[in-house]
Amino acid sequence: MSPRSNRARPEGRYIMRKRIGADVAIIGGGVAGLAAARILADAGLTVRILEARDRIGGRVHSRIDPVTGLPVELGAEFIHGIPAETFELIDAGSVPIYEVSGEHWRSAGGKLSPMRDFWGTLENVNEKMSGIGRRDISYAEYLEKYAGGGKNSAARALAQRYVEGFHAARIETVGVKGLLRAENASEKLSGDRAFRMTHQYANIAALILSGDEKKSVKNATEISIDLETIVQTINWKKGRITIGAVSAAGAELEPISARRALITLPLGVLKSSPGDRGAIAFAPDLPEKRAAWDALEMGDAVRIVLRFRDRFWERRGFGGRRSRPSLEGMSFLHSDDPGFPTWWSCFPIRAPMLTGWAGGPAATRLLELDDSGIVAEAVASLARILGTDSDFINGELETWYVHNWKHDPFSRGAYSFVSVNGLAAQKRLAAPVAETLFFAGEALSMDGNIGTVHGAIASGRRAAMEILTEC
Ligand SMILES: Cc1cc2nc3c(=O)[nH]c(=O)nc-3n(C[C@H](O)[C@H](O)[C@H](O)COP(=O)(O)OP(=O)(O)OC[C@H]3O[C@@H](n4cnc5c(N)ncnc54)[C@H](O)[C@@H]3O)c2cc1C
Repeated sequence: MSPRSNRARPEGRYIMRKRIGADVAIIGGGVAGLAAARILADAGLTVRILEARDRIGGRVHSRIDPVTGLPVELGAEFIHGIPAETFELIDAGSVPIYEVSGEHWRSAGGKLSPMRDFWGTLENVNEKMSGIGRRDISYAEYLEKYAGGGKNSAARALAQRYVEGFHAARIETVGVKGLLRAENASEKLSGDRAFRMTHQYANIAALILSGDEKKSVKNATEISIDLETIVQTINWKKGRITIGAVSAAGAELEPISARRALITLPLGVLKSSPGDRGAIAFAPDLPEKRAAWDALEMGDAVRIVLRFRDRFWERRGFGGRRSRPSLEGMSFLHSDDPGFPTWWSCFPIRAPMLTGWAGGPAATRLLELDDSGIVAEAVASLARILGTDSDFINGELETWYVHNWKHDPFSRGAYSFVSVNGLAAQKRLAAPVAETLFFAGEALSMDGNIGTVHGAIASGRRAAMEILTEC
């Protein structure tokens, strides 16, 4: 995608160009903003998306590995379960996907063994969550009081790692009520199943913008997208918005006017301090919104993709130890390692790539390192988990991919989680202001799909319907 330009470049049912004034200005061109834009434009409103980066898609960001030709996901990778929001797009665009399958393995001190019942163990630890009563408590308190005390420590450790890893959360801060809502939502979607887009997840941005072209929509307008437009100020009064923005190089851009604004900024950006790159100031200020976003949490996660010379883990006795089993059918590898405790292969696709994942406090530590430090930690961690040494892993390693979402000024974290008593704050943050300011984004998925692509899409659609109701 070319940098900001006034040249109109038709791309399906949207266009990259600048237009003065709009019915709705959408701040942020991630999946939430795009999903809202599609609905509003289909209803005949003029829509202008203002996006800080030189691309749309936000935290869905794919690259193609030049050697294998396979996608490397730097942000979202999995479609968790069978969410209608994503599957409708996939069906409309006839996009190929495949289900993640294969074996879960476990490493304890470098000793590898198959892991039989990952989901069952988790369920056992969490079975009392719905019985905690009216008062919300942290997951740390839950584990201590409800999950088997001194017994059951291995299962509790697994459950803690899951909450830190999957929800990118800190167990002292994350609330059980929010986790329960996420668990119920996941159950409804068969969340123990996962899928990948065969080509790249980033294609979802164009799928959303194109909508379902089989359904012809009369009077639909073109969606206008301004890339490299970093919004800094939103001056508002009822029915009238003036937006101040700068270019990627810091040059002040012409003010942008609209009748309404939909804010889809990541929670980390909303929370950032005045003057930080990406931070936005509202005038008049929105103290009640600030209180709401302060009561929610942005989680940390770090993913690293390592590409090797070949799939060495499939060789029995790899790394020079004859007793080491072949991990030919391995999809996930779990451990207690303090670096990257969880790894996965591309299974059922056979590729010489492994992805390392750390969430919560482990990620927060790692993200303070520069990229080469993160790679060194990943190599050391994988070596410990596989019971081999860093020299062996380095000898196999060809290249790596990592993106530091915490230090990315336009995300400032990976995805959100609901803190203790945070469900009410989510509602307060999502509520429109004076029929003029609207809010969406993954953090505002109130049905338990927080931190996901489908939750973000649903939040954007919800906000679009609110706007249409007000119009
Ligand atoms: C490492 C990682 C792994 C993940 N894995 C999965 C997964 O497997 N499955 C899944 O479902 N979800 C996953 N997620 C979560 C998923 O990616 C997000 O929930 C979803 O993409 C968020 O969409 P959004 O539109 O709410 O926010 P975003 O995609 O962040 O969109 C917000 C947009 O606002 C822009 N912006 C920020 N500041 C400004 C500004 N000042 N002016 C203008 N624009 C601005 C940003 O550039 C961005 O494009 C993952 C996320 C990460 C980081």
